[in-house]
Amino acid sequence: MSDTTTPPPFTGPTSVPPEIDAFLRGADEAHAAQQAAPAAPRPSWEPLGPPSSMPQPPPPPEFQPYQPDPYEAQSIADAPVGANQVPVSDEPRMPAAPDLSIELPRGVYDATRRVFLTKGYVRELDGEDEEALAKLRTPAEWFDGVVALGIARMGDIDFNQLSFEQAKSLTGTLLPGEDMMVYLKVVTATFGPDRDIKYQCQNARCGREIETTLHIPTDFPVVLPEGDYLPTYDFPSSKGRITYRLVTSADEAALLAQSTETTTSAEMTSAALVKSIIAVNGLPPQDPESFVRSLSIRDRQALLEVIASRQPKIDMSLSIECVCGFHNRFLLALPELFRP
Ligand SMILES: [Zn+2]
Repeated sequence: MSDTTTPPPFTGPTSVPPEIDAFLRGADEAHAAQQAAPAAPRPSWEPLGPPSSMPQPPPPPEFQPYQPDPYEAQSIADAPVGANQVPVSDEPRMPAAPDLSIELPRGVYDATRRVFLTKGYVRELDGEDEEALAKLRTPAEWFDGVVALGIARMGDIDFNQLSFEQAKSLTGTLLPGEDMMVYLKVVTATFGPDRDIKYQCQNARCGREIETTLHIPTDFPVVLPEGDYLPTYDFPSSKGRITYRLVTSADEAALLAQSTETTTSAEMTSAALVKSIIAVNGLPPQDPESFVRSLSIRDRQALLEVIASRQPKIDMSLSIECVCGFHNRFLLALPELFRP
């Protein structure tokens, strides 16, 4: 991340008007109610979860499992001893004590004081956390769990004194890009900053295995939007002045939980806008669902774009050039980083 292109980070606290406070708190309560829902009954013989705390989502199509080339293996076996050998250092990789401090662009929202807390610390996850994570069902829940467990402190709030659900209701107020920033910090604190990653070259005539080392603190730069974070923003639409807030990670989780295989992207757009829009011409819309459906497609698209443009962004794709000259572009699956 270059200092010359990055606007100075927003440094809180920011006071929040009561209406958004009520709105955010409503989202928190809905989220808490959802969390409190009883778990589906399980037969007593069913194991509680996978042995690892890390769910294994199906590999995305970009990641072809590496198929060793039998001819290449043969030629290496035939090569004289000492050929093609890379000197290996005997020194163990001893990472320096990691920097656990984190500064978020907008931060965790404390509803009781109506402030955003931007500065804090993450911590290394331990076996107790691993057991807690193993009980979470979906990859999305697991990711939110890593973020909630991994924060040690934000502002003057000591997360070690909070229950998991309390911590989750606070981290649910983060912006989705901030969630990612916390996740990268936590996996760095837990497993160190470097990951050796293997991929297969996507050039059909090559197919070589590419090995690379990621350095998490520098390989995933954050792009921050220009300007300060505000509790709410205004958007001029053909139906008047729309006041909206940014979509939080709890909103995203709720949208994900609501969606089914038959949910269309237009329905997802409507659901996201219902969460985001808090007033029209200064008054809360009487029927938010009808209002977002009555908006023109042009207004809906423009509003979604401006909402997205205010989010901090982290590029999780990797560009790797193979020795064959082919430029490979991979999208990194998040659990790939949750290991030494
Ligand atoms: Zn290649």
